[in-house]
Amino acid sequence: MDHGLRRARLAERLADLGDPGDPGDLGVEAFLVTHMPNVRYLTGFTGSNGQVVLTTDAAVFVTDGRYVEQSRHEVPDLERVVDVDRDAAAALAGVCRRLGVSRAAFEAAGVTYELYEDLRAKAEGIELVSARGEVERLRWMKEPEEIRLIERAQRAADAAFDAILGELREGVTELELALELELAMRRAGADGVAFETIVALGENAAEPHHDPTRRPLRRGDVVLMDFGGLVDGYRSDMTRTVAFGEPDARLREVYGVVRAAQQAGVEAVRAGATSTEVDEAARRVIRDAGYGELFTHGLGHGVGLEVHEGPWLRREGRDVLPVGAVVTVEPGVYIPELGGVRIEDTVEVTDAGARVLPRSSKELLVL
Ligand code: ZN
Ligand code: ZN
Repeated sequence: MDHGLRRARLAERLADLGDPGDPGDLGVEAFLVTHMPNVRYLTGFTGSNGQVVLTTDAAVFVTDGRYVEQSRHEVPDLERVVDVDRDAAAALAGVCRRLGVSRAAFEAAGVTYELYEDLRAKAEGIELVSARGEVERLRWMKEPEEIRLIERAQRAADAAFDAILGELREGVTELELALELELAMRRAGADGVAFETIVALGENAAEPHHDPTRRPLRRGDVVLMDFGGLVDGYRSDMTRTVAFGEPDARLREVYGVVRAAQQAGVEAVRAGATSTEVDEAARRVIRDAGYGELFTHGLGHGVGLEVHEGPWLRREGRDVLPVGAVVTVEPGVYIPELGGVRIEDTVEVTDAGARVLPRSSKELLVL
């Protein structure tokens, strides 16, 4: 990964931000990067504490004493400052002063109120301006290597889906199935899980983000599984809903509706499409079938270093999909006390449309 190129892109944005002729001008000379996935994106650092001060002609990496050795290997190309006192605000202020910065942007979503107050106190004389989503927007458009890692994470999830179908038997609990999925992903080459695995049986599938419990599997249950693998920091995200024995007739009907909606959503994905258009393409199918009120979330989200990142596919979304974005398409219908169905694929946005990454079947499997 070319972290220097990524930093150059952000520095270009900084120049735009600092351009007095730009109406959206923040007039800043430096960018303080504190949101860890952004720090990783710009430097390659995989530890838990690090910051970057970036100006148009310099970039300085700050971390604490635990990461001196690791950052020497992972961030060899940047000047590194060790924050021995674990006082990030003081360290960042010191770097800004040394670089002659008088006005700096900070990441609104990457700074706690505590750090903001500390920065205000320690960076006296340096004006602080909040910025939103600058590095995140660079991350929307994945490089080929990033897409390869997401695909590897997805291959592990596909292998886990195959394996779990053989584990469905009466009495097995949600927690046991979640553990089996996670083990299977790691056996198939994942470093870990992309997020907390969701397994929802029967009526629990009416909750879109159910936390696995000791609820045992019974004949006639739907089994909703939402899970993903992690490879070198990159994540995959997939949901499949299968039936253990013949499901309730209403859920079988809902499955057909969600399946058609998911297909319509995937077909609406292409470079240049707006978030709203894609969401509406899928939502319309569900609304026309009379279940509009029961599709209670957005259609999807970007996936990469974070499991939920931009661009966002939602009803009121203004995001425009660029080539190389990787997004999920995940409509669902949830019927209180009965169950629910969600089908989710992670797809790559191309000029021609969407390239679906999962290989797992989307037909209703009755086991
Ligand atoms: Zn998911
Ligand atoms: Zn998702």
